[in-house]
Amino acid sequence: MTRLLIVGPPGAGKGTQASRITSVYGIPDISTGDIFRANIKNETPLGVQVKAIVDAGDYVPDSLTNQLVADRLGEDDAKDGFLLDGYPRTLAQVDYLDDLLGSQGQKLDAVIQLVADQDELVARLTKRAQEQGRADDSEEAIRHRQEVYLRETSPLIDVFRERGLLVEVDGLGDIDQVGERINAALAERGIVPRAAAR
Ligand code: ADP
Repeated sequence: MTRLLIVGPPGAGKGTQASRITSVYGIPDISTGDIFRANIKNETPLGVQVKAIVDAGDYVPDSLTNQLVADRLGEDDAKDGFLLDGYPRTLAQVDYLDDLLGSQGQKLDAVIQLVADQDELVARLTKRAQEQGRADDSEEAIRHRQEVYLRETSPLIDVFRERGLLVEVDGLGDIDQVGERINAALAERGIVPRAAAR
């Protein structure tokens, strides 16, 4: 059972590495950003409620985000482990997740922090904006998301470091290089790929 978080500033490659981790470790990738975007696309009541917030690059209220994660972690495929991607992003979300896992006798095994420099991040996001046309990849929204991350989410890094859960990984390099670094860092903590665990 492997319960992981992946954190890092917008553009650090969380989504890309998260899908790699999913296949290597056999745990579902639970991305709150993806869930919000799917709801927006399908015009669900939640999607309609959060569209303007997400498009502007602001954070969805904790109450909505926490409930969404609680529901998702309650699904069968998350019983044996998961990778949370994009959650928790605020200290209130950390508290909520602690309580949620604690009430089930569970806890996190590690928090992967992808580290990358600011200029590289903006370059990557600008490229993605051209390729994918995400509504929150406008230059203004990108800059705003970086600011919100620094203010709201970077303090979480210290919390996880103090708990001894933080695994820092250099996010610069190609997808496989970064993936190998993640594997090596997790292996040091006794967290091994699914096949090797058998
Ligand atoms: P990025 O990796 O570029 O930051 P994400 O796909 O993780 O983007 O998230 C996109 C948007 O979805 C965020 O800017 C925010 O509006 C919303 N969102 C995702 N996760 C959370 C969360 N944990 N709390 C609040 N809002 C969230």
